[in-house]
Amino acid sequence: MDELVSINPATLDEIGRTPVTSLHELDTAVRRANDVFPGWSADRALRQKLLQACADALTLRAADIVPLLVREQGKTAAEAGGEIWISAEHLTHAAEADWPDEEPGPDAAGRTARVQKIPLGAVAAVVPWNFPVFLTVAKIAPALAAGNTVVVKPAESVSLVVDTVVQLLAEILPEGVLQIVHGGPDVGRTLVEHPLIRKVSFTGSTQVGRLIMKQAAESITPVTLELGGNDPAIVLDDADIAYTAQSLARSAFFNAGQMCVAPKRAYVPAGRVDEFCQAFAAHAAALSVGDGLDPATTMGPLHSKAQLEFVHGLLDDAVARGATIVTGGGRGTDLPGYFLEPTLVRDVDDTFDLVALEQFGPVFPVVAYTSLDDVVATVDSQEFGLGASVWGTDEAAATEVAERLAAGSVWVNQHNAVEVELPFGGIKSSGFGREGGIEGIGDYLQTRVLNIKHTS
Ligand code: NAD
Repeated sequence: MDELVSINPATLDEIGRTPVTSLHELDTAVRRANDVFPGWSADRALRQKLLQACADALTLRAADIVPLLVREQGKTAAEAGGEIWISAEHLTHAAEADWPDEEPGPDAAGRTARVQKIPLGAVAAVVPWNFPVFLTVAKIAPALAAGNTVVVKPAESVSLVVDTVVQLLAEILPEGVLQIVHGGPDVGRTLVEHPLIRKVSFTGSTQVGRLIMKQAAESITPVTLELGGNDPAIVLDDADIAYTAQSLARSAFFNAGQMCVAPKRAYVPAGRVDEFCQAFAAHAAALSVGDGLDPATTMGPLHSKAQLEFVHGLLDDAVARGATIVTGGGRGTDLPGYFLEPTLVRDVDDTFDLVALEQFGPVFPVVAYTSLDDVVATVDSQEFGLGASVWGTDEAAATEVAERLAAGSVWVNQHNAVEVELPFGGIKSSGFGREGGIEGIGDYLQTRVLNIKHTS
């Protein structure tokens, strides 16, 4: 039997194995999800009660799940604790969410029209490795609240922790309402293409997002795509550099930079680059790289060898082209895992791959600018539109710049503030569809018009 091997990215120790789901088992899971859908979708009050029970169970089990999440994904224990907390928040938000099941259509003589919101059926949730629990629950919670059933396919390298969480929640729910299948792209593809899957919610790379959209096209299955990003942070002339540098360093190196909405490049007025780099470097250098289970660690390793090699490749290329490493660039620890220190790079521009691509790691480039209009135009011309931020002490002026940026989330004087009550998602190559808020639940509903002609 094929197995997925989970490796601790800090120590390179094997921590466990997960059997790959066979095609027959996958088919059975989707059929079961389809069979139990009518019963599950019929009782909204029960769904709300059980979703709150799921939130409580996850919170109660956090102490067991956190170390597994750290060992399998690589993040710090504090980050893992935050991930479990916000996952429970998502479940509670879904349990408490209120939306009208139907609204009256416009009046017309001789008929009554009702505009109804109904669930879709069995939903496939295909999830990446960077926030494996949060990104899974962010799909499960709204999908279930809306009355759908769910089959999860986690990234193969984080199967143990996602399996643990899904099994915990599944035990609280009626059988078949929430299930999990394991494997690589083939299993993902088979799930997406299954004819009884009525919706695909995917979070992951833009490259795989394109494939998913094509796969779903055959059966006209609706998709939500939460894809990659290359968020710019635009620092204005009047920015408070001490505050801005500290906030950006914290956001850029959270989860070792492996966050879709991490700030991935800063545009700083040429006259303030020295000051910005000095302040940012101080915060970067103060981070302690190591095993996430060590309480002294404030930044863990990258998740995989491939990710480390990719990010290092971008850094090496930038240096070869004349970039300057202000701080970092080494491993920062003697542990054998996939480590790279928090690294700040300057003397780069938009032609460097480190700036132009989604680096997804702890290397932060600073681009000096002289024309704000040019920065806005450059950002606008690029493929991603997930998040962006603008930094300045004149809040109204910063907000004006923010309103010129096309992205799913634009922050002023903060970055990557993701809140469960707010719709989150991308535009352009960062995808479409939203998670969070009532809009996030709406993503798992479809419209039915009931139009009744009065014949007597
Ligand atoms: P990935 O695209 O490689 O994989 C994501 C999932 O898709 C995995 O479960 C994988 O097994 C599965 N998969 C791969 N090929 C498939 C196929 N052909 N058919 C069906 N399923 C397939 O992404 P990753 O490397 O795990 O995650 C990193 C990426 O995720 C980054 O680009 C990051 O920006 C993005 N991301 C986006 C968000 C967001 O909300 N927009 C959040 C987190 C991560």
